[in-house]
Amino acid sequence: MSARFEFELIATSGGARRGRLRLAHGDVETPAFMPVGTRAAIKGVTLADVEALGADITLANTYHLHLRPGDDLIARAGGLHRFMSWPRPILTDSGGYQVFSLAERRKLSEDGVTFQSHLDGRALVLSPESAVDIQWRLGADVAMMFDECPSWPAAHDAAEAAMARTVRWAQRGRDRFLALSEGRVTDLPASNPGQAQFGIIQGSTFKDLRDRSVAGTVAVGFEAYAIGGLSVGEPTEDMYAVTAHTAAQLPADRPRYLMGAGMPDDLVESVARGIDLFDCVLPTRNARNGQLFTRTGPIAIKNARYAEDPLPPDPDCGCPTCRRYSRAYLRHLFMAGEMTAATLNTLHNLYFYLDTMRGIRKAIEFGTFDSFRKTFLETYSRRPSA
Ligand SMILES: [Zn+2]
Repeated sequence: MSARFEFELIATSGGARRGRLRLAHGDVETPAFMPVGTRAAIKGVTLADVEALGADITLANTYHLHLRPGDDLIARAGGLHRFMSWPRPILTDSGGYQVFSLAERRKLSEDGVTFQSHLDGRALVLSPESAVDIQWRLGADVAMMFDECPSWPAAHDAAEAAMARTVRWAQRGRDRFLALSEGRVTDLPASNPGQAQFGIIQGSTFKDLRDRSVAGTVAVGFEAYAIGGLSVGEPTEDMYAVTAHTAAQLPADRPRYLMGAGMPDDLVESVARGIDLFDCVLPTRNARNGQLFTRTGPIAIKNARYAEDPLPPDPDCGCPTCRRYSRAYLRHLFMAGEMTAATLNTLHNLYFYLDTMRGIRKAIEFGTFDSFRKTFLETYSRRPSA
């Protein structure tokens, strides 16, 4: 196991877990939300802002950084932390999800995926080994293994083939990772020798495939495990059911990461099912589209009803936007296409997500997560107010 990786379980409340994840660049209080910095930037805000909002960890995308500016360049700059000036932990995905969703003319084989860059059409290869090498050069605190992400819905046999290949790729990726982290291979610069690697469970919405994926991936042995292939369009109740089914089988002494989820109520419901880590583009992407998350549900700031509304977006929110600005002003900025509209909306939405996680952590510590969950779900409506 990576020398710097530790996970301490501090409290539980039902299925919910309060923990502390120790990584090479610092501690992550769990359950935690990881803001998504696709291209080593969180759209609309500065990393100093994100630090001030209290994020312990951010996520960056391997596929995008490999294409531009290149992981070699980032390694020469001293690694991703120094390059983007983010002193806290970073998790990088493996690039698998983007190859399957963004790349053009991809060709899948047992060896890996050959694809054309969506930027300039260059032919590139991503394999279990090269995904490890790219993330090693980037120097993330947590590297994700390379997996095959089938789209949803998937037929059982297609999901089975992808799951089985992902387990075979897990072994290859782990072998390469251990060769690097144990110093047996020294031809790559190590900008973060304390890197940890997480395995990914696949199997779509089929519980038998999830069972086999857990068995195979845990047998390979990673520092921790993620549940992939959910939050890709399946009904919410399927996501919750597969999350609960899969999380229950993962080692209790390791953090569990639900990839790509979700809406605020998904976070609460998934914590109840034993999840410790989340990432999602919703708070940042929706902010740029003028949707602000509040305790009672999302609001569309462009709505005419806010034109002369002197209240902040969420009167209970302590974020820099709500402490200073009215819905009327934020609506004006959005309608006028001002850049600061995206910035102020993103600050609020990220704060809302991070603050929801703070509330969850506190509730688990106090043993009151059940009532927190009940109140949250009673108050929060997924449907945007008109
Ligand atoms: Zn706010």
